[in-house]
Amino acid sequence: MQTIDKEKAVSMIEQAEKITFLTGAGVSTASGVPDYRSLFGIYTGIERPEYLLSQTCLLEEPKKFYSFVQTMYHPNAKPNTIHKKMAELEKSKNIWVISQNVDGLHKAAGTQHLVDFHGDLYDCYCTRCGQKVSAKTYLFSDRHDQCGGQIRPNIVLYEEGLKEQAIATSIEAVSKAELIVIVGTSFQVHPFCYLIHYASDTSEILVINESAVQLNREAYFLKEDAVKVFENIV
Ligand SMILES: [Zn+2]
Repeated sequence: MQTIDKEKAVSMIEQAEKITFLTGAGVSTASGVPDYRSLFGIYTGIERPEYLLSQTCLLEEPKKFYSFVQTMYHPNAKPNTIHKKMAELEKSKNIWVISQNVDGLHKAAGTQHLVDFHGDLYDCYCTRCGQKVSAKTYLFSDRHDQCGGQIRPNIVLYEEGLKEQAIATSIEAVSKAELIVIVGTSFQVHPFCYLIHYASDTSEILVINESAVQLNREAYFLKEDAVKVFENIV
């Protein structure tokens, strides 16, 4: 990867017309949402997160599932400069945001062309009657008061498959972009990181992250806190 400075990264984003952002936990830490690794750190030695966030745990030990998932909610978190600038760019450019985050902050910022690749914690429904339920209701109780069914967030659990529509839309957004910006992610989660294989040969790839990521093609790399980049985009 070719290391570049902040000014070059800002101008690449300002000049491109078709941009697809691939985002991860790093875009939400400035909003006070901890990344999974630090969240899981609390639970190390108690139970594996892969189990606590699995379909098996949801079905067989719903209380355990519920108490873990509750710790992932930060209902007072607000979109930060990164979320807001991405939403704002959509007004003048062809933008797509594909996010691994389940915190709903890109949506809260107003991004319309959005794929929540792993779902959205704030999109909850009753698994018995299918009715949509607010996250506030879910955080009060995981039992649906109308039918007694179990409420769950619409996030992709371990043992569950990704939504086909999310994959198809993401592939199209990546393949049509002239600039792909990977922001705030170590880009190691499969199959999210496979999306880059769909980039066209003529597209440019820019990585803005605290550490370098492994890619099998040419990319520009800026080692920086993404907030400092996005606050400079006009
Ligand atoms: Zn119900």
